Amino acid sequence: MAVSKRIVLHFPKRLVDRPIVYRLVKDYNLEFNILKAFFTQEAEGLMVIEISGEQNNYDKGIRYLTESGVRIQSLSQDVTRNEQRCTHCGACITICPTDAFELDPLTKRVNFDNERCVACEQCIKACPPRAMELHF
Ligand code: SF4
Ligand code: SF4
Repeated sequence: MAVSKRIVLHFPKRLVDRPIVYRLVKDYNLEFNILKAFFTQEAEGLMVIEISGEQNNYDKGIRYLTESGVRIQSLSQDVTRNEQRCTHCGACITICPTDAFELDPLTKRVNFDNERCVACEQCIKACPPRAMELHF
């Protein structure tokens, strides 16, 4: 399935000169369009891009970016969790490419960090009680 998404990439200082985004084309067969690029006062690089390609490649590309140290923020979509529905089964933990879910070893509950979410929608399909919801 083909997808096209707009996301915001935050590059820490040490990554600003590295050709990270170009590897999305070369290694993951994705197309991207830079809509906006600028530096913040803290010399962090900020880039708004539109990425298109196959869902599978998109997920791998996003994982590559986050593993490289790039922080990703979704632009137009927001994913939330319906706390009443979540059973803390943990099915979402391994499928999330940005590690937005974490098991608390003490409480055995699954925490969701919305800040890390890039709205890839993987957890929405995978969550058995349909606790994850997409909003536009
Ligand atoms: S898959 Fe759904 S029910 Fe299970 S922990 Fe994740 S959000 Fe909760
Ligand atoms: S939509 Fe779900 S799987 Fe995708 S990044 Fe957000 S929390 Fe992770």
